[in-house]
Amino acid sequence: MHDIVVLGGGPGGYAVAFRAAARGLDVALVEADELGGTCLHRGCIPSKSVLHVAEVLEEVNRADVLGLKLTFDGLDGDGLSAFRDGVINGLHKGLEQLAMSRATVHRGRGRLTTADDGRVAVDVTDDDGMVTRVEGQNVVIATGSIARSLPGVEIDGEVVQSSDQALWFTTPPRRAVIIGAGAIGMEFASMWRPMGSEVTVVEALDRVLPLEDADASRAVAKAYRRRGIDVLTSARVQAVGVDAGAGTVDLEVDAGPRTLEADLILVAVGRGPNTAGIGAQELGVLDDRGFVQTDGYGATAVSGLWAVGDVRPTLALAHAAFAEGQVVADRIAGIEDVQPVDHTHTPRVTYCHPEVASVGLTEAQARERYGDAVAVSTASMKGNAKGIIAGSDGFVKVISLAGDTPVGAIGDGGAVLGVHIVGPHATDIIGEATLATAWEAIPAELAAITHAHPTLYEAMGEAFQSAAGLPFHGH
Ligand code: NAD
Repeated sequence: MHDIVVLGGGPGGYAVAFRAAARGLDVALVEADELGGTCLHRGCIPSKSVLHVAEVLEEVNRADVLGLKLTFDGLDGDGLSAFRDGVINGLHKGLEQLAMSRATVHRGRGRLTTADDGRVAVDVTDDDGMVTRVEGQNVVIATGSIARSLPGVEIDGEVVQSSDQALWFTTPPRRAVIIGAGAIGMEFASMWRPMGSEVTVVEALDRVLPLEDADASRAVAKAYRRRGIDVLTSARVQAVGVDAGAGTVDLEVDAGPRTLEADLILVAVGRGPNTAGIGAQELGVLDDRGFVQTDGYGATAVSGLWAVGDVRPTLALAHAAFAEGQVVADRIAGIEDVQPVDHTHTPRVTYCHPEVASVGLTEAQARERYGDAVAVSTASMKGNAKGIIAGSDGFVKVISLAGDTPVGAIGDGGAVLGVHIVGPHATDIIGEATLATAWEAIPAELAAITHAHPTLYEAMGEAFQSAAGLPFHGH
């Protein structure tokens, strides 16, 4: 009898296991495939590896500006695969070692069941069909998510692909149509365009990255068009056709019907919970969309049954799953004062080019909540030395409360409600902003912190100074 049995060894599952082990609990981890989940094997890590290659290629493409005489002889598909797989394998090996030292790892497909004593247990079926019952005081569902498609569109894995297949290319597609301008769609566009692909991104809503601040969406769409990526917004997909190794996408755009031709159609319209066939339905813990229903701490209505990560209707991000996993483990360990994860303070990071990162409220959300009390300060990266050297500009936009507007129970005026960054290394420099929003810092305090020069993140310092009414280079 373990303290915890975790079903699924992705970021959510291993976060539960590692935190529980750190708290002295006995943990079993059940994994049907490889430890590391979508993030390590089919998502974040392979995509960021290939995006890095695309980024190097962008630099090669501006070699003349850098005073370098380079010739580019083309992409070595095998070399690209070896690089990507080397990154995955290295991380996977390390993760396996950590997991084996902290948990009992069961290989096989797990299914929730009710044991004789009424507790939830997990039946694990291995490759030979042998079933082992793994029992614990608590069971955590961490089975992650799967790619969604559109009604009537079959992902054949050849012409029509999801990100599960599209990451493994050795030759980039000549003409790619990407359906969906969320994180996946925008990252693939950034991957393929420098490699010479003709790329069209099709988005049903009126802007790319629709969950981001509208200024970020505008800046990225502009940068994409400048780089020769066709961006079609408010475009409704009517049909997807495949014939003789090529595809067509019929669209309804504001100007009327339009048909796009492609060698590869990437369907990137979101991911859904991977909860079918795991016994969760039978336990009555799923909502009508297949997500596991929990309270803020991850507890379901069934005693001793918890859930973390993409199976919950929160943010489908690896670091959101880490955070949820740690909270569940702490709750089970009986730690006092554990707070539910507040995803308002969970950063969002999109590795398109230019990168986009944000935390907290968008300007529209802040205005809806606080009306005219919202103040907006933007520092452009146009004059930022490191940005100029990197050949890319962008901005840091700080949303705060004006003057002495009290923030809920805090009572201090002017708190930072949200920070939005577009530009080089935005996904790294968001770090400071997550501290600012999580600690409900006020711009005056942040403006007094010395930011190194020349750096990209000094733009954040300047945005905080503007928010404090003390603009330095900006207004
Ligand atoms: P998403 O939900 O972020 O974006 C899907 C996009 O497709 C939306 O903009 C939506 O409006 C659009 N769409 C839906 N139906 C459409 C249609 N019929 N025609 C055109 N557009 C349509 O989903 P995703 O990009 O597939 O990513 C899946 C999940 O994985 C998300 O939760 C995402 O945040 C996460 N993810 C995160 C990162 C990252 O953090 N860098 C990277 C990849 C994926």
